[in-house]
Amino acid sequence: MTETSGSGIRTQVIGTDLSSKTTRGVFGGREQAIDSAVYRGAIDRMAILPSTDHKVAIYIHLPFCPTQCMSCDRVAVITHSKAAIDDYLTTLDLEMSLVSKRLGRSWELSQVLVGGGTPNYLADAQLARVAAMIERHFEVTQDTRMAIECNPSRTSQGQLALIRGLGFKELRFEMREIDPLAQSALGRSHSPELLQDTAENARRSGIERLSFELAFGLPNQTRESLRHSMSWLMELGPDEVVCSEFVRQEQIFENQRMLDPASLPRLSEKMTLFSTMMDVLDEAGYVWLGPRTFVKANDPLVTARQDGMLFQNRLGYTSALDHWVLGFGIGAVSELPVLLAQNATDVTDWRSAVLAGDHPAESGVRLSLSESRERIAFANLGAHLSVSIADITTPLGVDLVRRLIEADLLSVSNEVARLNELGRQNWQYIVEASEDLWWLAV
Ligand code: SF4
Repeated sequence: MTETSGSGIRTQVIGTDLSSKTTRGVFGGREQAIDSAVYRGAIDRMAILPSTDHKVAIYIHLPFCPTQCMSCDRVAVITHSKAAIDDYLTTLDLEMSLVSKRLGRSWELSQVLVGGGTPNYLADAQLARVAAMIERHFEVTQDTRMAIECNPSRTSQGQLALIRGLGFKELRFEMREIDPLAQSALGRSHSPELLQDTAENARRSGIERLSFELAFGLPNQTRESLRHSMSWLMELGPDEVVCSEFVRQEQIFENQRMLDPASLPRLSEKMTLFSTMMDVLDEAGYVWLGPRTFVKANDPLVTARQDGMLFQNRLGYTSALDHWVLGFGIGAVSELPVLLAQNATDVTDWRSAVLAGDHPAESGVRLSLSESRERIAFANLGAHLSVSIADITTPLGVDLVRRLIEADLLSVSNEVARLNELGRQNWQYIVEASEDLWWLAV
């Protein structure tokens, strides 16, 4: 699809779905159209939470990429125009100002994730502008966990030093694959040597945490190719590895039509591929943190789980108690006390709303307080491995717990429901397979 942005510059928009890997949409198909007033109401509700007890996480979407990947399932804008990016940043600043003013005080940030697109496609001055915006509208402290997604092909020692100097301590690389043959089937090429250089340069620049995402279920992927990729990955010593399932959704992402369906692994082969990843990670001493995510045994998040202080929000695992996420930019998702909302995915719609002084939320799910509490409980079940029965109060939640117990995936004692071994090992598949649980837990 080709769009014309507010600055009159032609860009190409891929897809409409920020983070979902399924055809069920960001909120499991439960979303409805919402307007600015609904979002403002949710912000007002958040604004009255006591400042001493609550922080917030923010997600900033920078959708720009220089070329299109065949497997892309993100809200991406292909452009080579610096002016288009500058124009987007001006609107982003305005959007953040609208929300921070409505919140009425400078909220301390527990987490920041700048995602894309390819955030490090931006010029140095543009990245510095994004960091300045964050500090202008929110309070960044030493404890704020600041992460940015990067494409290794676009990093340089100078850029990494800049990113660290701007306060980012964590880099996330969405690799999909490392094996050269499997990468070429996706139209990508990051050599293992390039990754090694990038990881070394990042650590030399003072970056404290490197997270790599690899996918299983990609075209032409085999157990052997994945083993190669995993062994290259292990040589980089990542702090975190995210194993995500690739699902071809050509009806949403037209670019995926270029992928040959015959080259995609079947479900049973996917299970084998995922087991291969788990075996390698296990042999290397990584700890399973929750669905898809593995970390080094000495990772602070492992300690957090032991202390019962591991939580999950849309940005990943965190030891910060606060669950709320404010999303900025096209397609960004917000998770507020009584509302899940996604911004307009079209640059022109998003920009028009912000310039009119409205919030650009376009779709979402309104939640009662019970539903909100229950959603957090299920989202955290994969992190804590247990959930208090007292938090499950809606008919849907109660029925889900009953079905999980009947399937021998969950057991209950002393008013606490715990994932058993079978449930723990298969949590990702259980969540993906259950319409209700998927919506509650993702
Ligand atoms: S780099 Fe990422 S966001 Fe950009 S087109 Fe490729 S997959 Fe999509």
